[in-house]
Amino acid sequence: MQFHKKTLTAEDIKAKARELGADLVGIADGTTVDAARISAVDGDRVIVLAKRLNEGVARIRRWDDRHKYYNDELTLTHLEETSLELVYWLEDCGYPALIVPPTHVAPSSYDGDSNAHLEPLMPFTHAAVEAGLGTLGLNLQLLTPAFGPRVLLTAVLCSVPVECDRPMAEALCKGPSCGRCLKVCPAGAVKQWDRDWQACDHFRSPHGFAQLSEHLTKFAEEIDPAKRKQLLRSEDSFNLWQSILRGAGVVTGCRRCADVCPVGADYEKMLADAHAEIPENTPDKKRRLAAMTADSDAYRSKQRFIGVLKRI
Ligand code: SF4
Ligand code: SF4
Repeated sequence: MQFHKKTLTAEDIKAKARELGADLVGIADGTTVDAARISAVDGDRVIVLAKRLNEGVARIRRWDDRHKYYNDELTLTHLEETSLELVYWLEDCGYPALIVPPTHVAPSSYDGDSNAHLEPLMPFTHAAVEAGLGTLGLNLQLLTPAFGPRVLLTAVLCSVPVECDRPMAEALCKGPSCGRCLKVCPAGAVKQWDRDWQACDHFRSPHGFAQLSEHLTKFAEEIDPAKRKQLLRSEDSFNLWQSILRGAGVVTGCRRCADVCPVGADYEKMLADAHAEIPENTPDKKRRLAAMTADSDAYRSKQRFIGVLKRI
């Protein structure tokens, strides 16, 4: 390890991140996402890394398939290891660095309501937009030109003086005229350039803290010893145990909206045949989508992150 600072360029950092396994990498100015909240001294730059989710499980239509949870959790582990290797490399070049994991929330923001939606430590999708990796879609998922929304993100903070990327100008999302993310959503969580995050959490973290808390409450309130034993040995207990063991079903879960999104160079070749039909679409969803317009107050308030829609 050397303690003098090596001169680095943005391209040096991106090339290293790719060599270590990242599929996409961009660099944002830390002030755009208030990185100083996490590190006042090492947050000048936010290096956003993305790893693509594998297509095989994206072709499985059930939202609650455990192969999906497990494969995605392995992708996350890979991305975390890539981020850690990048941190060590930056430090070997003389720049202290740290990882911001996408799965953590600030414990101080938890107020005792296990069902409440908690924000991650950093607005990762916004950081990714600022780092030029993509734009946000109708349900605020990050869309990238290569893999659509089928990526996981991490961030590395480092006060290395390199050039930042810029947000993309044009929207990648096709807007309500597509609406496939809304049609497929099992939670009915997709709104007009917005998402009901609490409703979504129940599906994207199906064996997470809310379910653990609910299950343990049932157990604590059950006075019949035979029923308590049943609860202990139930499928819910089994799923929670497996999820605690690996994180699959906690930090990963539903991603039907990502699987069916037609944005991304991978979609036509790898996914379109599996997702031609959307069995979850209902007359109510059709009505909600028909009432939406692309240009709206919701769109205009988030235009920096969504980009300019093609038909406006
Ligand atoms: S992750 Fe699942 S529940 Fe959440 S918006 Fe997407 S489809 Fe809906
Ligand atoms: S599925 Fe369609 S509407 Fe939804 S984010 Fe993708 S392109 Fe946009």
